[in-house]
Amino acid sequence: MISFEEAYSRVLADTRPVTEVMSLPVEAALGRVLSAPVLAPAHVPNHDNSAMDGYGIRCADIAAEGVTTLTVVADLPAGDRLERTLGAGEAVRIMTGAPIPPGCDGVVMQELVQRNGDRVVVPAGRKPGENIRPAGEDIRAGAEVLPKGCRLRPAHLGLLTSLGFATIEVFRKPVVALLSTGNEVVEPGRSLLPGQVYDSNRSGLRAALQALGVEVLDLGLVRDDRAAIAAALARGGAEADAVITTGGVSVGDHDLVKEMLEGQGSIHFWQVAMKPGKPQAYGQLGRARFFGLPGNPVSGLVVFLLMVRPALLRMMGALDEPPRKMRALFRGTLHKKHNRKDFLRGVAHFGAEGVWVETTGPQGSGILTSFARANVLILLPEEPLRLVDGDLVWIQWIDHD
Ligand code: AMP
Ligand code: MG
Repeated sequence: MISFEEAYSRVLADTRPVTEVMSLPVEAALGRVLSAPVLAPAHVPNHDNSAMDGYGIRCADIAAEGVTTLTVVADLPAGDRLERTLGAGEAVRIMTGAPIPPGCDGVVMQELVQRNGDRVVVPAGRKPGENIRPAGEDIRAGAEVLPKGCRLRPAHLGLLTSLGFATIEVFRKPVVALLSTGNEVVEPGRSLLPGQVYDSNRSGLRAALQALGVEVLDLGLVRDDRAAIAAALARGGAEADAVITTGGVSVGDHDLVKEMLEGQGSIHFWQVAMKPGKPQAYGQLGRARFFGLPGNPVSGLVVFLLMVRPALLRMMGALDEPPRKMRALFRGTLHKKHNRKDFLRGVAHFGAEGVWVETTGPQGSGILTSFARANVLILLPEEPLRLVDGDLVWIQWIDHD
């Protein structure tokens, strides 16, 4: 048995990003990963522009004391521009966002002036640059705006469009094959015989993979049968970048996944000092990384979140996203007796006293409601320990994408 930390670093250490890249319309790139840094092709904003509705002036025209009367020579809504240079004694009516005309070096807020016909009366004390947003204030031309490995979120797509990009280069999606095993496991939509369970693993994991943004190759559900498992594994190893199976990696008589993997590929390790999720199998299968998750529904999802997700992110070419961990006040009492790292499902709340957390109730690895209600994992160390109300614990937010 190896520690959680060792298993985690071994899983990540030999995971390589896909290399193939493709061009996509920005509007289709949500969740995709940039294969190269994005550099700004021009300044943003691309011209000096007004930060206020008001009057564009030449600050040198304004008397040091009292007021100065200027002649309004043009009206500039956003989108319009004055082609000629602003002359001595002239002002322009200008709206927020409109380009600053040549010669103009300040904008006076309209609340500060008095307008009479084509005249405007401006108070003293104007400073050059006032209420002007300079070109390049947001982004300088040539600057790196987004790094290689950026997973594109809504604001990133807006930013890319603001720079004029209609298409963008991203990595191709890794293909992840997904297989369920177990004689007792059945497809949803039919009635259960005694001893049977619905295939909840494949439905939860498929959704987790879709949310992460990989391509799912659904290998379906096979019985605990050597030939059936071998055939499914062979297909996954040939067609996918990663293969995820659930069930059959424990020490029972029908736990055949491990045995078949040993025949077709190689196992790097298979027991980890964690709860849930002690039996799991990592290895290589053809050209694919292999992740054999435990059959228990909670275990599978926990191991996916903690181990498989970071590896798949790396495979997608994404920058590492460290788990979002923080300290929280524990509510309740707890006695942990075993020597494995424990990942309890919890609900964290933001309260007046800070963040506090409670477990979601019974924590058996078959109790899927314990995960469905959770927003965090409560991270407990390997050593046995007792927790009482008000103790500080580490929590990790559950990331669904
Ligand atoms: P195993 O790891 O194959 O020994 O399975 C451990 C437990 O998880 C058993 O109670 C199985 O019935 C259950 N299980 C295995 N596969 C699934 C699945 N795809 N969906 C729901 N439960 C499962
Ligand atoms: Mg089984």
